[in-house]
Amino acid sequence: MPETKSFETVAANVAAVREKIDQTARACGRDPASVTLVAATKVQTSDTIRNAIRAGITVCGENRVQELTAHLEDNAYEGARVHFIGHLQTNKVKFVVGKVDMIESIDSSRLLQAVEKQAEKVGVVQDILLEVNIGQEESKGGAAAAELLELAREALSCPHVRLRGIMCIPPATASEEENRGFFQETYQLFVDIKEKLEDNSTNIDCLSMGMSGDYPLAIQGGSTMVRVGTALFGARPPWRPQG
Ligand SMILES: *Cc1c(COP(=O)(O)O)cnc(C)c1O
Repeated sequence: MPETKSFETVAANVAAVREKIDQTARACGRDPASVTLVAATKVQTSDTIRNAIRAGITVCGENRVQELTAHLEDNAYEGARVHFIGHLQTNKVKFVVGKVDMIESIDSSRLLQAVEKQAEKVGVVQDILLEVNIGQEESKGGAAAAELLELAREALSCPHVRLRGIMCIPPATASEEENRGFFQETYQLFVDIKEKLEDNSTNIDCLSMGMSGDYPLAIQGGSTMVRVGTALFGARPPWRPQG
């Protein structure tokens, strides 16, 4: 785990990213308040997370179950909401459902049904996003774009799940032009699901896309939620598989 980042460092980064978000939104005629900054806190210490929240972060995004559990036990997220943004195995849903405000990474019927079952068991209605594998990468989580509408229908039929929108992570190797295309496609999927499925009882309002390298582009593409790690906390040590 890296060292705790000082409040001053984190606060300066949060302010800079928030300013860039606001500028970008205004430049394309959007209300800056329509874009939520989610701090991707993987590998950060509980004290770094506390510093981020003190600096104005309102949503933390966690992508490993073990770290989520440790930070929850530590009360590290106090004062902020928590989203689960990583790949979730069905045998771990009990550590996540009802413990986070939103699960952004539902990518199969099997996982959806496991979340529904656990949410019923603990008596909650769990907010979720569907994750789309927009670059059709074999190695990556996410549902195929062609299956997304069907999965969204299924989510709406689950009484203990509240479908709030969709999320995507474009291929890491994508060029700016390719990324623009991926964001456009994801936006279209979002609009399509909204038009076909939204009614008085639903509120499909979250489009989670954009990371440190591409969040301005994602905001231009209609993102309402950017998940930013490196630009807030600095570079991370190389990724290692979760135990
Ligand atoms: C780590 C992570 C991010 C943030 O990535 P950065 O490039 O560090 O901003 C966003 N989304 C998910 C799902 C992540 O795991």
